[in-house]
Amino acid sequence: MTAVHVPGTPVIDDGRLVSTSPATGEEAGRFPVATVDDVARAVDRARVAADWWAGLGFTGRRERLLRWRALLARRIEELAQLVHVEGGKPVPDAIVEILTAIEHIDWAARNARRVLGPRRVRSRLILAEFTGHLEYQPYGVVGVIGPWNYPVFTPIGSAAYALAAGNAVVLKPSEYTPAVGQWLVDSFAEVVGEQPVLTAVHGLGDVGAALCRSGVGKLAFTGSTVTAKKVMAACAETLTPVLLEAGGKDAMIVDSDADLDAAAEACVWGALTNAGQTCIGIERVYAVDPVFDAFVGKVVAKAERLTVGAEGADIGPITMPSQLDVIRRHIDDAIGAGGRAVLGGPGAVQPPYVHPTVLVDVPESSVAVREETFGPTLTINRVRDADEAIRRANALSYGLGGSVFGRRRAVAIARRLRSGMASVNSTLTFAGMSTLPFGGVGDSGFGRIHGEDGLREFGRAKSITRRRARSLLPSMTFERTSTDVARLVKAAKLMYGRRR
Ligand code: NDP
Repeated sequence: MTAVHVPGTPVIDDGRLVSTSPATGEEAGRFPVATVDDVARAVDRARVAADWWAGLGFTGRRERLLRWRALLARRIEELAQLVHVEGGKPVPDAIVEILTAIEHIDWAARNARRVLGPRRVRSRLILAEFTGHLEYQPYGVVGVIGPWNYPVFTPIGSAAYALAAGNAVVLKPSEYTPAVGQWLVDSFAEVVGEQPVLTAVHGLGDVGAALCRSGVGKLAFTGSTVTAKKVMAACAETLTPVLLEAGGKDAMIVDSDADLDAAAEACVWGALTNAGQTCIGIERVYAVDPVFDAFVGKVVAKAERLTVGAEGADIGPITMPSQLDVIRRHIDDAIGAGGRAVLGGPGAVQPPYVHPTVLVDVPESSVAVREETFGPTLTINRVRDADEAIRRANALSYGLGGSVFGRRRAVAIARRLRSGMASVNSTLTFAGMSTLPFGGVGDSGFGRIHGEDGLREFGRAKSITRRRARSLLPSMTFERTSTDVARLVKAAKLMYGRRR
């Protein structure tokens, strides 16, 4: 019997996790819920697969990962449709998400050898008789825990880099998007059928917790800050290293010399795409006084044209029904604290949808400014100048991404944002650039996916020294004489004793 439930809320029916569309209630898939033993077995199998996968070397893995990339590209519409049904995301947004993920697989596959492969490292005068060798060896099995809001992009952001580095991956998709997670695993198995190199375990949060305690070599988590702390605590029990990609409350700064049309267009996209359910979504804007009114007018004009609905609309449903209460609370708090809704407002929350809402003059103490809203809402506040904008943007404990619109000072402002990433004269674009690392500071987590740092995140640095010649100045031996030690003292003073 299928339990009665709010569309989109996952239920467990006869030991199976059933996921449904938040818009229509249509079933997207049902998957056996893993027990703690199931998780342990999956990790054990992955450990064997990891040895085989690592043994393929960079070339063998590259060839297979590129074939997986090609399969995803060929079936992009099929996957986008599943993302749409299961999470409610508009199909064009799903296409953009999948395309970005494909780009990351391509880059990771092509660059893993260059970044992680063995190389010689120069020695210096001290230990000049040795050569250094460096390589990054895989952890074995990497556990990947993913959220529902970008169910392709976020797990692949970790998994593609972990796989390229030579690890097997056990994925725990969000309970809201297990079908997409399983689709990724099944498509990978079509290309790499020999061993379970990429597998999934399904269930609720306790399955993620079991994965943290399963003895994986590393755990890559993407999700909320609250859960990130639980994941880190669970991993601490076994000193399992963690990578944490957590929540955000990203700010956009509009300076006096900004192109206001471009800023408004990027702001509306950055804040409202995926119904605002984006970790790096723009949730707060600080516009300097001379351009504030014109900028707000342009944002409202663009945002009020967006359509809301299940099919063919710009803004789909809120994926996680319980989030509707959070969004409503934030809008009410902003208005109760003295803010004004220049678009939308309390009536904008019409489950399972939220219509675009633009709030201005919201006190910085409001939860609408301080906490992650994860809805198609936005606060825009007036500031005196860029310095005040930076101060306010940096006032929160989150520090994921950010955006700056302007000309002369824009890059300097972007550098001063306390965040792991920033886009100048665009929003969210750093996520799609596979050559750049992605990650946050403070409550937004630590560690990096994407780019060279993202590859190194999934390899342990292995350092090897090798003797080439006899030591002229022996130091690391009991055979050294008092004359050797006197020479060492002299050398230390000569080499390092100067002030510069
Ligand atoms: P959650 O933190 O609720 O869940 C994330 C994942 O963790 C899910 O798979 C969840 O499983 C699992 N989980 C829950 N409890 C535990 C536990 N105790 N131990 C281990 N795993 C657990 O986040 P959401 O899925 O709601 O995703 C939204 C959040 O993700 C937002 O805060 C957003 O900002 C953030 N995010 C961050 C990104 C980044 O790159 N920094 C990118 C995308 C999103 P289950 O779903 O079954 O509960």
